[in-house]
Amino acid sequence: AQTYLGNSVIPIVNKLQDIFAQLGSGAAPIDLPQVAVVGSQSSGKSSVLEALVGRDFLPRGSEICTRRPLVLQLVQLPKPKQTKEDGGNEEGAVGEGEKGGGVQKQREQQAEWGEFLHIPGKRFYDFSAIRSEIQAETEREVGTNKGVSDKQIRLKIYSPHVLNITLVDLPGITKVPVGDQPSDIEARIRTMILSYIKHETCIILAVSPANADLSVSDALQMARIADPDGSRTIGVITKLDIMDRGTDARNFLLGNVIPLKLGYIGIVNRSQQDINANLSIREALAQEESFFRSRPVYHGLADRCGVQKLGEKLNVILVQHIRGILPDLKARINTQIVTLQKELASYGELTESKAGQGALMLNILTRYSYAFTSVVDGKSEDMSTT
Ligand code: GDP
Ligand code: MG
Repeated sequence: AQTYLGNSVIPIVNKLQDIFAQLGSGAAPIDLPQVAVVGSQSSGKSSVLEALVGRDFLPRGSEICTRRPLVLQLVQLPKPKQTKEDGGNEEGAVGEGEKGGGVQKQREQQAEWGEFLHIPGKRFYDFSAIRSEIQAETEREVGTNKGVSDKQIRLKIYSPHVLNITLVDLPGITKVPVGDQPSDIEARIRTMILSYIKHETCIILAVSPANADLSVSDALQMARIADPDGSRTIGVITKLDIMDRGTDARNFLLGNVIPLKLGYIGIVNRSQQDINANLSIREALAQEESFFRSRPVYHGLADRCGVQKLGEKLNVILVQHIRGILPDLKARINTQIVTLQKELASYGELTESKAGQGALMLNILTRYSYAFTSVVDGKSEDMSTT
């Protein structure tokens, strides 16, 4: 149940959320940007999202699998208190294929669940049942014959290991209509994708397979339409393991083929054979790591290789986003302080205890405002301690 998404952001977001809870007044939680995947069909979009979340739950495969937009809202739960018998061992929480049950395992499973908007109140603790339900719900809307719809499936994943962020898995771009698809399928899918990635707050993961030339990448072409200056597009190159013999993705990753401001990350996801063999996420990550280790051509590019690095890159972008919204949060808190000070003054004579309470409250608010100041001034690590 380890996630590569948001590990370093979680403490900051937690702290901010705490502050808002203290302030009361229904203050909105921190709005993190959405992350959407774009690319051609079977480029590995669903595989990349799954690897980032660290759980097996999305339909993937060599045919069209994602046929409706899946809006995946991750909801962070408080970390369960670790008792002695848990051994305080984070590593123990990792891995799907772990043998042996035990109290801890059971507790871990109960601590994470999914819930669909179309089945309110039903908690899915079994992530493979989540995948089945995505498939079933897709078929209810668009049948079994490759039909595509822009009607969303909304899924919330509750877990102590995620941060509050929304990921969007989208159908891939196809050129030739198959099955029940209308003749204008390509245009329809493009319009659908654009409706998500056009938003300024959307981070675009432009997924292109390494076994095709980048200059024909649908992902990069779509991303450029929505984000012409490339300020929110990360290039993700998948399938490094199945490139033509004698070729490699070094030049792609270095941005020598198509430069991208935020750069590229190369990925090795599970192959169809791995999926058929039920290879766990943990095994897949180990496989990816050994792939990069055994290919000297990628040795100088460690910061551009692997799903973990993609997670880290996203973290950096999220932290920048949080920094960007802090001045506004700070201003709102200062306004609240002024209002409270006025209110306090208007009480005139105070009984001991009321004055004490007011002073205490002010004290608390001022402390938080200082905490914000230090973050805005670039000492964000202050926020993640205590
Ligand atoms: P999507 O249509 O873009 O969502 O792609 P999927 O994630 O469903 O993957 C499509 C197919 O490509 C599946 O059979 C995956 O196993 C396979 N695949 C995805 N990424 C990789 C990769 O990095 N290497 C290999 N060998 N296969 C991959
Ligand atoms: Mg997909």
